[in-house]
Amino acid sequence: MRLDGKVALITGAGSGIGRRTAILFANEGATVVVNDISQENGVQTVDEIRASGGQAYYIKADVTQQAEVKTMVQQTINLFNKIDVLFNNAGIAGVGAVHEIEEDTWDKVVNVNLKGVYLPSKYVIPHMMERRQGSIINMSSCVAEIGLQRRSVYAATKGAVLALTKSMQVDYAPYQIRVNALLPGTILTPFVEGYLRSAYDNPDEALNTIKSRQLSEQLGTPEDVANAALFLASDDSKFILGSPLYVDGGAVFGKMA
Ligand code: NAP
Repeated sequence: MRLDGKVALITGAGSGIGRRTAILFANEGATVVVNDISQENGVQTVDEIRASGGQAYYIKADVTQQAEVKTMVQQTINLFNKIDVLFNNAGIAGVGAVHEIEEDTWDKVVNVNLKGVYLPSKYVIPHMMERRQGSIINMSSCVAEIGLQRRSVYAATKGAVLALTKSMQVDYAPYQIRVNALLPGTILTPFVEGYLRSAYDNPDEALNTIKSRQLSEQLGTPEDVANAALFLASDDSKFILGSPLYVDGGAVFGKMA
């Protein structure tokens, strides 16, 4: 039980990586606050956790809305008195090269993927500072490190999240708060299924191209990323501060000849 007695808040936990991580954290003894913009999906995650004997609560909030995030954090504190782990996971895609992206799409992706890391952090961190402990995990992506076709705004936000992570770490290290980033490769989730359908004429061919750029020659699973999140959340990673953790099947550092 690597998270016994801990309270973890996970944004975007109604689907994909966030849901899988919520289930894993609960299995490891954490009380999990499941956030998602979709109540139906968030409640499904909670039901799944409770059905296997875990502790979870759904709190609805849009991570781009200051008042909603502030209330979510306050509700969590009222219920559990503390937050040990914050996983800033919520994110959206937004496919296109710069000349193709409309301004409203640009703004939306920046808001969810970047402001959606800033706002929960802003309201959770003072509680962690008071207790002089905490682990924050920010969801970046391997696209922060490599150029990929038609990922412009998405890549920009994920690069920014990685840079933000390092600066946050410097600010909060004196309070024994660790801040690290996850950089997944392509993980088969509803998010990826959606952009394969919307961005490519031939989704099957695109899927094969994506597989071939990972040395694993397979897509990752939500469990692969959840396991890495568990490591960063737990004291097993107590000497890891301000680091990017790649969960990418070798996409960034490996190249077939
Ligand atoms: P997913 O299955 O779409 O899950 C993301 C969840 O976030 C969805 O339930 C979504 O709700 C929710 N969400 C969206 N906007 C929100 C908001 N404003 N406030 C609160 N919740 C919101 O995606 P995923 O693949 O698990 O991705 C999770 C994170 O990993 C994202 O940050 C993504 O960029 C990152 N990532 C994914 C991959 C990959 O290959 N899958 C690779 C690298 C990084 P709705 O469905 O209702 O919009």
